[in-house]
Amino acid sequence: MGSKRFISVADFARHGMNIHLSCRNGHCHHTGVVDPHDAWMWFRLHRFQLSLDFCLGGSALDHFRCTRCGARAGSARPTENAVTVLDFFPADERGWKMLQRRLRG
Ligand SMILES: [Zn+2]
Repeated sequence: MGSKRFISVADFARHGMNIHLSCRNGHCHHTGVVDPHDAWMWFRLHRFQLSLDFCLGGSALDHFRCTRCGARAGSARPTENAVTVLDFFPADERGWKMLQRRLRG
């Protein structure tokens, strides 16, 4: 049992673990794996709260949408599995810059 804690998006990036997300919709059961560095960048640009801890509201999960049914994520846990969700975040440097500009308004 490790002492690593995964209570924020930043923790996943720090520990080099991908984020395994599962859909909140009980009829969907869809899961996906996202890159923690992309997720961290995404959250910072939007100024979202990074906490994934349900005890603290788990608000970060509300910012991940199921790519199949559109429901919010119900849980997040660390995984070493390969990233499966590639189109959620900007694909390249240019995409990130455009997003940054858009958010600055
Ligand atoms: Zn779903």
